[in-house]
Amino acid sequence: MQTPKNEALSILTSLGVPPLGSSGLAAHSPIDGKLIGHVAETSDVGAVIGRAHAAFKTWRLVPAPRRGELVRLLGEELRAAKDDLGRLVTLEAGKITSEGLGEVQEMIDICDFAVGLSRQLYGLTIATERPGHRMMETWHPAGVCGIITAFNFPVAVWAWNAALALVCGDPVIWKPSEKTPLTALATHAIMQRALKRFGDAPEGLVELVQGGRAVGEALVDDPRVAILSATGSTRMGREVGPRVAARFAKPILELGGNNAAIVAASADLDLALRAIAFAAIGTAGQRCTTLRRLFVHESVADAFIPKLAKVYASVAIGDPRKQGTLVGPLIDRGALDGMQKALDEARAMGATVHGGGVHDDFGAVASYVTPALVEMPKHDGPVLRETFAPILYVLRYSDLDAAIELHNSVPQGLASSIFTTDLREAERFMSAAGSDCGIVNVNIGPSGAEIGGAFGGEKETGGGRESGSDAWRGYMRRATNTINYSNALPLAQGVTFDV
Ligand code: NAD
Repeated sequence: MQTPKNEALSILTSLGVPPLGSSGLAAHSPIDGKLIGHVAETSDVGAVIGRAHAAFKTWRLVPAPRRGELVRLLGEELRAAKDDLGRLVTLEAGKITSEGLGEVQEMIDICDFAVGLSRQLYGLTIATERPGHRMMETWHPAGVCGIITAFNFPVAVWAWNAALALVCGDPVIWKPSEKTPLTALATHAIMQRALKRFGDAPEGLVELVQGGRAVGEALVDDPRVAILSATGSTRMGREVGPRVAARFAKPILELGGNNAAIVAASADLDLALRAIAFAAIGTAGQRCTTLRRLFVHESVADAFIPKLAKVYASVAIGDPRKQGTLVGPLIDRGALDGMQKALDEARAMGATVHGGGVHDDFGAVASYVTPALVEMPKHDGPVLRETFAPILYVLRYSDLDAAIELHNSVPQGLASSIFTTDLREAERFMSAAGSDCGIVNVNIGPSGAEIGGAFGGEKETGGGRESGSDAWRGYMRRATNTINYSNALPLAQGVTFDV
């Protein structure tokens, strides 16, 4: 097997990315923790925003189905580059091969969705109380869309936003995570090919800015950025949200989760076991939708929890490129330290921890861990926060309503599941008095959403929605139009005003 560095450099070359420099942002592979190369930081974000802002004046007038053609071409280019880009995601973010490829498939899927959407940016026709009048809504492009993304979905989240924003008539400026600048460069090169084939897109329509927090802040604060879509931690959202609100721009916030599942007494336990294993261990616990809390009914807990512990003990950990590996590395040492700290806190509360150790076969520079299954005496301490690592806290319950209350008693509200074959329990969990999350599933885990649904969550998860359903409305401005085709001028609410 090649070194991650050599493999990454050869993929970048094959995707047409110019050679990396020797200064700027350092890109590492979490597979061996070693440096791959450097990427230049963007020094003049204002100039980039200026180009995108100028592009808006042209792009907003291009008919939406024609804008969809650009996204269709992007989908074609992504199909051609799927293997290379998927492998690069594995090298830079540490996902196992099938998840790296799955992430690129998600980009292709959202392109397909957006192409159809480009002919369906519908407004309503509304009954008016005034004779000889017609009232309707029209949706217009809103302006430049800034896209700030997290390391753990280094390319798909850009695509969720960019595919919709572009068909909606908005230029896009992407600030990827400083931990994953290479997949961003590669995606940008793929986009350039689609732009070239498209032919007459305005300069500045699709921009990439590289750097850390300061580069993100330049997008957050600039009045020429009309929509700011930010995906990352709640800490980041707490900084970004008020600043975007202060200038009355449109925020789309996709922040942290602390996702839970309930295993009811009637659950199909074999199905639940497999779903929970993927949701809690997959992506080494580094999905926003990763399952982090599990409530098991006391009547099945003694049978179920040991089975789950057995799965935890047998899961293959290692180089994510190797066939059979299910758990790759954590992104960096900070993630590993955060996990150990949370486990120490749990132990101090009297928890029983299965697994959770540092897996040191791969040298000190990489951060591999054994996923942790933690039987908690109570729903408190580290259970209430998101630790971005494979820790699953397990609690027992006897009453469903009490379990739902605990389920909802965390600050985050992203994704949730119930495993049950009892229709009444399933419906209760999905009802107004059930899970308070943006994603509420039955008999599947909380992670692994498809692009057709609106994606996002409530409370400290930020309230934003991306991807499918009517999430496109977040990228447009709505105008209500009233047209008088009569010779009279009746006023609404029966008001008279004779001059
Ligand atoms: P992070 O918050 O550290 O960084 C995310 C991005 O925000 C990066 O590009 C970073 O440079 C930028 N950033 C940070 N502070 C900023 C500021 N003050 N102004 C502007 N930009 C700023 O997150 P991370 O560690 O890369 O990703 C993991 C987190 O992301 C987890 O909390 C996870 O749950 C969350 N996440 C959420 C979703 C979702 O859809 N809800 C999806 C993926 C990840």
